[in-house]
Amino acid sequence: ELSAQDARRMLLYITDKIIEKKPYLTEIDSAIGDGDHGIGMAGGMKKAKEKLEQMAGEENAYAVFEAAGKAMLMSMGGASGVIFGSLYLAGAKGMEPKPVITAKDLARMEQKSLLAIQERGKAEVGDKTMVDALAPAVDAMKASCNEGLLPMLRAAEAAALQGVEDTKKYVAKFGRAKSLMERAVGYQDAGATSVWLIFQGMREYVE
Ligand code: ADP
Ligand code: MG
Ligand code: MG
Repeated sequence: ELSAQDARRMLLYITDKIIEKKPYLTEIDSAIGDGDHGIGMAGGMKKAKEKLEQMAGEENAYAVFEAAGKAMLMSMGGASGVIFGSLYLAGAKGMEPKPVITAKDLARMEQKSLLAIQERGKAEVGDKTMVDALAPAVDAMKASCNEGLLPMLRAAEAAALQGVEDTKKYVAKFGRAKSLMERAVGYQDAGATSVWLIFQGMREYVE
């Protein structure tokens, strides 16, 4: 239901959206983190955009995700580069080339990405990270992938937003927020917010 070029345009839409949200994401990271999340995400998305713009002839849908993820990973650096690059890269890497991917393929891809992110970063749901938005979004995708792309993405977006809300209740296990302990409660996690915006972007594009 998504051709390689649909996927490319969807990811381009998301890069613009995240670049636009740079101040918002930085503001969120400033409250309990070190205030660079918007800068990192916007920088990574800018590199992904440059890469995607060169892929107007690409026929493999997975290659588009893989290239965007790789561009983010290489340009962002550090832990968050690996984590957010993996969101696209880990699930798409090594997949049999496909000109068109279905809702189920997309759900499988994000499931694979989640596993890789958790293997790498060791975060569980409740640790106040992007996993708090991604894990419920993946569950929602698995549960609704038979209903088609748009219903699935709507469910994923809603689950991710609920996940963002849930991060407000948690103390953090990682990053600067960890040292704040109970003082981080009440504030949402920046990375989880990015995950929600990315799923929102997918839904907006497909709608
Ligand atoms: P940094 O923490 O290096 O300044 P960013 O500000 O770009 O990087 O990203 C911070 C976000 O990364 C956090 O809000 C959180 O969602 C996510 N994050 C941090 N550590 C982990 C981890 N181990 N697993 C998953 N996500 C993580
Ligand atoms: Mg930060
Ligand atoms: Mg930092």
